[in-house]
Amino acid sequence: MSIVLETRGLSKSFGAIKAVQDVSFALQKGELLAMIGPNGAGKSTCFNMLMGQLKPSAGTVWLNGTNLSGHGPRQIWRMGVGRTFQITGTYASMTVAENVQMALISHNGRVFSILPYAHRLYRDQALDLLGLVGMADQADRHCAVLAYGDLKRLELAIALAHEPSLLLMDEPTAGMAPRERVALMKLTADIVRDRGVSVLFTEHDMDVVFAHAHRVMVLNRGQLIANGSVDEIRNDPRVQEVYLGGGTLFNPAEEGQHA
Ligand code: ADP
Ligand code: MG
Repeated sequence: MSIVLETRGLSKSFGAIKAVQDVSFALQKGELLAMIGPNGAGKSTCFNMLMGQLKPSAGTVWLNGTNLSGHGPRQIWRMGVGRTFQITGTYASMTVAENVQMALISHNGRVFSILPYAHRLYRDQALDLLGLVGMADQADRHCAVLAYGDLKRLELAIALAHEPSLLLMDEPTAGMAPRERVALMKLTADIVRDRGVSVLFTEHDMDVVFAHAHRVMVLNRGQLIANGSVDEIRNDPRVQEVYLGGGTLFNPAEEGQHA
């Protein structure tokens, strides 16, 4: 197996808050990896460092063997890292298909101007991608009238238009009904399987995580406290402690070592 994404000692502090502390993990090609943890555990901070939006206080991020230090979001996106946004990033005034076509045009930018039938071509590709996420029948609707769950599926199609090798999904199912959550993650799992894309995602709903993730990492108070298979994580007493509220894993003595 080949490693697509790797972090080594990744850390981020905001003043006195150690949001992420010494997090090291690797994501394999074709892997659907969940990052879970209570609110404030540091998940979004981790994602923002992976996407180049936040500069780490310490540690490094490696994408296919390249150190991403000093790379901005745009550069990282161009290197094949796609993302879905917690707040949906679509154009309400355009149709579903047009939104995907925009993404395809942006992805194929230079070629677009010289292809005589580019509009048709991108329309067909857009419809293919919409078919993949189960949205083909809504291609000509305006985004403004879409249900929330459909917007999230459209967002996935837009992310896929850039042919990412790695997709970062921070709470992709936030605001969705339970049945929609399971459906979106099932869809994501199918895409991982069929396209060989690697996915790192966060998710609150443990049923969704345990049903679809290949592997699960648990963050608590900025630290990676577990990293293993679904069964290992389910049966890990430290993870149960965090999720069942049976006391705190926070160890002030340990925290001092990271000062
Ligand atoms: P999660 O996504 O797991 O809920 P976050 O990464 O959003 O956690 O937050 C981790 C910790 O870092 C929290 O204590 C949060 O308040 C803090 N934090 C996150 N972003 C900032 C910021 N820009 N400035 C100050 N503190 C922040
Ligand atoms: Mg978050």
